[in-house]
Amino acid sequence: MEHAENMNTLVIGSGITGIRVALDLAKNGVNVHLVEREASIGGKMALLDKTFPTNDCSICLLAPKMSECMNRDNIELHTLSEVESVSGSEGNFEVTLLKKARYIDEKKCTGCGICIEHCPTTVPDPINDELCDRKAIYIPYAQAVPRVAVIDPDHCKHLSEGKCGACKKKCPRDAVDFTQMDQFLKINVQTIVVAIGADVYRPFELKKYKYGKIPGVLTAFELERLLCPTGPTEGQLMLTGPYGKIDEIKDIAFLLCVGSRGEVHEYCSGICCSHATKQAILIRESYPNISTTIFYRDFRTFGKNFEHYVERSKTDYGVDYHRATVERIERSDDGRISVVFDETGGEERKKDKFDLVVLSTALIPPAGTVGLAAKLGIKLDDWGFFQSKDPLLEPTSSTREGIFLAGCCLRPKDITASIMDASSASAKALEIMNQMKKGLEKELEKDEVVV
Ligand SMILES: Cc1cc2nc3c(=O)[nH]c(=O)nc-3n(C[C@H](O)[C@H](O)[C@H](O)COP(=O)(O)OP(=O)(O)OC[C@H]3O[C@@H](n4cnc5c(N)ncnc54)[C@H](O)[C@@H]3O)c2cc1C
Ligand code: SF4
Ligand code: SF4
Repeated sequence: MEHAENMNTLVIGSGITGIRVALDLAKNGVNVHLVEREASIGGKMALLDKTFPTNDCSICLLAPKMSECMNRDNIELHTLSEVESVSGSEGNFEVTLLKKARYIDEKKCTGCGICIEHCPTTVPDPINDELCDRKAIYIPYAQAVPRVAVIDPDHCKHLSEGKCGACKKKCPRDAVDFTQMDQFLKINVQTIVVAIGADVYRPFELKKYKYGKIPGVLTAFELERLLCPTGPTEGQLMLTGPYGKIDEIKDIAFLLCVGSRGEVHEYCSGICCSHATKQAILIRESYPNISTTIFYRDFRTFGKNFEHYVERSKTDYGVDYHRATVERIERSDDGRISVVFDETGGEERKKDKFDLVVLSTALIPPAGTVGLAAKLGIKLDDWGFFQSKDPLLEPTSSTREGIFLAGCCLRPKDITASIMDASSASAKALEIMNQMKKGLEKELEKDEVVV
C-alpha cells in the first residue's frame, strides 16, 4: 500500500447512494470525484413524486444534498462522464474518465431556457420513458444539478446536419459552444466506490401484459412521473402522447412482481409492494373517486413501519388488495382494459375492467454494468448485480481490494437501505485512506528525527 498526503476517492454514480457517499467522505476531508453519466446528478430519487413510508416529497429531501455536492470545494462533479479505464491497485488507482461534450459553457449558462424555446427539434424524452417530448437542447428537469442546458448531439440539426444554430443566436450569455469535444481526463485515487444503481425493467417481451401495445398499460416508474409535479403532465393523472389519450380515469389496477420472481428475473425486486401501496395511497388522496386495486402474489413489505403503512392504505384510503395470479391483459371493446386473473389457484378465471393498469416491474442491473465490472476488475453475481466480497460479513466490499459497492447496484432496495450501504462503504474507504495518511505522517516524523 502506498502512502499519500491527500485522500482522494472516485464515486461512480450519483443517485442518492453516490451523493451520500460523496458527502460522507467530503465531510471527512476526502477529495471526491463524483462521476455521473447523465447530464444531472440525482438518479432515480430525483424523479420520484413522494417516498414511502413517510410520503415526503422526494426532490425536497434530495435537492439540498444535490446542491451541497455542487457547492463543496472538495467534491468535483463530472456529469456526462463514464469510466474509460482503471489501472493500479488499492491506494493508487489511475483512472481515465471519458467526459462527453455538453456543447454548453457551464460557467456562462444561467439555465434561463431561452434556447429551449427557440429550438425547432423535438424528440421523445428518455428521462420520462418517452411519455412526452423534449427539445434537442434541454435542461433535464427543474431541479437538475448543474442547472444548465445540454445539447443532444444525435438530434441537434447543427451538430448532425450543419443547419439551424438558433440556440446559439438566441442565447443572451453566448453559452452555446459547438466546438466542444469529448475529453479524456486522468485522475489518481486511493479508493473507488461504485453506486450505479439499477434500471427499471420495461416488459416489452412479456406479451401477456401488452405493454407498449395498449394505451393505459404503464410501468410504476411511468406512473411515478405522471404523479410528479416535474413530470410530463405536471402531476395531473392523465395520459397523452405516444401512449394514447386517457383523461377520464375511474379504476386503476396495480400488478406486482412483473418481470420478477421467476418471470424473466429470478429475484424479488423488494420494493414493488411498497411503491404500489404508496402510489395507490397518493391517488386515493388526490382523486378519491378513483378506485385502486392491487393484484399481488404475496406481500413483502418488511421495512420499519411498512406493515402499518399497508394497513393504513386499507383502512384510511380504501385501497383494495386481491391475492391473484394475473393470466393476461386484454383490450376491451368499450376501450377499457381487462385484467384476467386466477384467485382460486384452480380452474376458475375472473376478469375485471380498468382504465389504467400499472405494472410494478423489476429493478435490473443498469446498462453497461458488465463493461464497468470488467474495467474495474470486479465480479458480478448470478443476477448481474455486483458481487460482495462476503455477502454476510462484508456486503459493501467488492471482490477487489480498495473498491466498494453501495445501493441498488448490489440488489434492488429502498432509499433507507441504500443510504445505510452508502455510509458503510464510505466508512470502509475512509479507514483505508486514514491508515495511509497515518503511515505517511509516521514516515515524515521519522525523517524529521533523522534531520
Ligand atoms: C417506481 C419506483 C418508485 C420508488 N419509490 C420509492 C419510495 O417511495 N421510497 C424508497 O425508499 N424507494 C423508492 N424507490 C427505490 C429508489 O428509487 C432507490 O432505492 C434509489 O433510487 C437507489 O439509489 P441509487 O443511488 O442506489 O441508484 P439510482 O437512483 O439508480 O442512481 C444511480 C445513478 O448512477 C448513474 N449511473 C448508472 N450507470 C453509470 C455508469 N456506468 N457511470 C456513471 N454513472 C452511472 C445513473 O445515471 C444514476 O444517476 C422507488 C423505485 C422505483 C423504480
Ligand atoms: S444556453 Fe443560454 S439561453 Fe440556453 S439556458 Fe443557458 S444561458 Fe439560457
Ligand atoms: S442548433 Fe441544435 S440544439 Fe440549437 S436550436 Fe438548432 S436544433 Fe436545437
